[in-house]
Amino acid sequence: MVNLSSLWENERENIFLAIDKVAKSGSWILGNSLNNFESALSDFFKLKFCVGCASGLDAIEISLKALNLMPGDRVITTPLTAFATTLAIVKAGGVPVFVDVDECGLLDLDLVTDLIESDGSIKYLVPVHLFGFAMDLKRLAYLRDTFKISIVEDCAQSVGSRSSGILTGTVGQLSATSFYPTKNLGAFGDGGAILTNDVSLMRSCQQIRDYGQSAKYVHDVIGMNSRLDDIQAEILNSVMLPKLFKDNRIRSKIASQYLDGIINPDIKIIRQPINSDSSWHLFPVRINGDRDKFRNYMNELKIGTAVHYPTLCNQQRASEFFKYEISPKGLKCAEKISASVVSIPLHPYLTENDVARVIEACNTWRPE
Ligand SMILES: *Cc1c(COP(=O)(O)O)cnc(C)c1O
Repeated sequence: MVNLSSLWENERENIFLAIDKVAKSGSWILGNSLNNFESALSDFFKLKFCVGCASGLDAIEISLKALNLMPGDRVITTPLTAFATTLAIVKAGGVPVFVDVDECGLLDLDLVTDLIESDGSIKYLVPVHLFGFAMDLKRLAYLRDTFKISIVEDCAQSVGSRSSGILTGTVGQLSATSFYPTKNLGAFGDGGAILTNDVSLMRSCQQIRDYGQSAKYVHDVIGMNSRLDDIQAEILNSVMLPKLFKDNRIRSKIASQYLDGIINPDIKIIRQPINSDSSWHLFPVRINGDRDKFRNYMNELKIGTAVHYPTLCNQQRASEFFKYEISPKGLKCAEKISASVVSIPLHPYLTENDVARVIEACNTWRPE
């Protein structure tokens, strides 16, 4: 599914150089390497500001706090996502309101709009550009402007994804991303970042990630320790970010080969929405029949698969321990996708031969 050892073999010299540079500089936390990476990543997103932090989870939590989320405030989100999305809302004091997804697996914006129109008390929305598929940014902007909704875009899987040519992350007042090593832009450990055009929100996020400090030993708000290490920032800036365009192009080429090559009535490719130009973080398909049988079959052919995600956030055991709501329309589509979805391998180190093998394996699979 992922190939971190090839990444290491290809980049180890550059990574050692990056580590050496930071170590020698003597500023290992909130130093120049972090500043430089933050400015490079905000350039990438075509936004003014970036605030590095410890993880994607923290990036969402800090964003919601910066947007003044109060305990008990309701936050519309999707049940079909990494549990971290839900956890961040809960940790920030919010009550997740789960709304169903569409056939692409993304939060259904018709249902979201109905809910916001009928319930004026909901003021927060955390949409997720799942799989790398870009949600409709024009519709998100409409919700933001018409109903004064505070939006934190979860871009953990969508670095480089576009909707009608516009990059994801540019519509939310704040956007969050993750540098978990398997993400399109991964670090060599944990990391995350918040992006924004708003200078005062940027300052709030900077304070919250650093014990709530506005200046040294001046604590104005209840903060946390969630900084992005300079070593990770330097590796991201000098090794990983410069190859992101190329890596995303390779992902996109492989995705086209899958789209053209996989023809099997028992394997239904989940297509991205019209107007979406995916980062191809994942390539999800839906399996007719027994998903585990398909995964075992692939495994025997030495082809890795994964499931994003086998359990909806509201069905996790941990959900007994916090308040949440489910929209009156239910979660039928999310349940259907969660029960049948499988991700097949998609990463920049797949060879032509690997891709051909995956296509061949998919095309010869039969459910019996
Ligand atoms: C990975 C991921 C996160 C969490 O990121 P971490 O850095 O692991 O905390 C949040 N949301 C989505 C959609 C993700 O894929």
